[in-house]
Amino acid sequence: MSRKYVIAGNWKMNKTSEEGAELAKDIVLAVGQQAEVEVVVCPPFTLLESVSKVLEGSNIKLGGQNMHPAVSGAYTGEISAEMLRNHFSSYVILGHSERRAYFDETDNFVNQKVKVALENQLRPILCVGETLEEREAEKTLDVVKTQLVDGLVGVSAEQTGSVVIAYEPVWAIGTGKVATPEEAQVVHAFIRQTLAELYDSAHADKIRILYGGSMKASNARELLAQEDIDGGLIGGAALESNSFIDLVKVAIDQD
Ligand code: PEP
Repeated sequence: MSRKYVIAGNWKMNKTSEEGAELAKDIVLAVGQQAEVEVVVCPPFTLLESVSKVLEGSNIKLGGQNMHPAVSGAYTGEISAEMLRNHFSSYVILGHSERRAYFDETDNFVNQKVKVALENQLRPILCVGETLEEREAEKTLDVVKTQLVDGLVGVSAEQTGSVVIAYEPVWAIGTGKVATPEEAQVVHAFIRQTLAELYDSAHADKIRILYGGSMKASNARELLAQEDIDGGLIGGAALESNSFIDLVKVAIDQD
């Protein structure tokens, strides 16, 4: 089953408008016209407009890092799916471990967002992953299954064509500790099997499952060589143009 790789950069709370535009320009120049790998950049909300202008005419997609499930209203500091669409986003990262840990986002809340994103033609990148404590207690698969199943409540088989899953072991995010390709593959295969149980294997085989956690050009080849790893959600290595471009090029070569 061939699935197009997705390499998505999560800029988190980094970059001014000028810095973001510079980074986006470099990415567009280097890999903006190729179509073998789907490249997504997810800047902070304040940069969506300026980065979207830089991406115009290229194949690079824009994404938000979060959104609120309500259509509008008294939710100070929040942003809606429609606002993301309005700023040319086609993806949105949901349920990132930092949102779960620092902002107490529950599976139920993440699920509401996933459904609203899909209703608004945004492709959710649903993040799942265990903490170090959970891994050491051998709860990895249970934790991932709960986050996945609860995150996808009410999502139909047809809608899964727009869903991307990111497996991000929390202990590997921003730590430099990357899961071994074999460790990651075990969980990716488990996620695909769970998706097949939730839907069927034809749908599960089409869903892209990204790895996230200290992924960079130097370790991407081995990770992407795994059967069920279909790309990466990249934090640190997405903040500097050469490291991100090199990573995208590894994915293009692997294709
Ligand atoms: C992330 O936060 O989604 C992530 C994968 O970060 P890093 O690449 O820095 O580990």
